[in-house]
Amino acid sequence: MSDPKTIISEMCQNFYRLGWVSGTGGGISIRRDDRIYMAPSGVEKEKIRPEDCYVLDLEGNVQEGPANPNLKLTECAPLFLSAYELRNAGAVLHSHSANVVLMTMLARRIDEELSVLEFTQLEMIKGILGHGYYDTFELPVVDNTPRECELTESLRKAMERFPDSPAVAVRNHGIYVWGPDEVKAKTQAECIDYICEVYWKMRSAGIDSHISARPQPASV
Ligand SMILES: [Zn+2]
Repeated sequence: MSDPKTIISEMCQNFYRLGWVSGTGGGISIRRDDRIYMAPSGVEKEKIRPEDCYVLDLEGNVQEGPANPNLKLTECAPLFLSAYELRNAGAVLHSHSANVVLMTMLARRIDEELSVLEFTQLEMIKGILGHGYYDTFELPVVDNTPRECELTESLRKAMERFPDSPAVAVRNHGIYVWGPDEVKAKTQAECIDYICEVYWKMRSAGIDSHISARPQPASV
């Protein structure tokens, strides 16, 4: 398997082109056994080199820092660690996808700190692990906080309440997405971004998703 630091550097460039990590936002981390590799914070993500990445243990202690002393560990670190701990993730991504941000504004509130978005009958829902075409993909949405690290508690609660979702979105902010490895985490992020874009456009065009979709056959 390729060097995780090199993969992080390449993914940062790809996600930058998608607008997911522009303006120094977002983050990427990958686990290999008992080590977690993480992109640094507050820098132009498209310029991150493999040697700029941090290496942490599973408790979040820095085992190896970048050679450049001006780099900082991301405030997302406790959030990434939550997905490794609670979901046994192999990789966790944080994107500021505009499609997701727009959809979070439409999320239905279910309690003081948690909302939910529901998606169904789109081909790309089959790309969400454990979901079929007729399933409803429930994406939890937590409220944003002034500092990213303050999201940790609500994110962990959302993970526990929605065990079938490979992601937790943050209202007006972005999304944390994970998977058993970096390829799956990336495809989950791509599917969710696509689904949010289609739903937002349907909504903007006045199309009701439940009316447009065909009813589920009785035999399924
Ligand atoms: Zn963020």
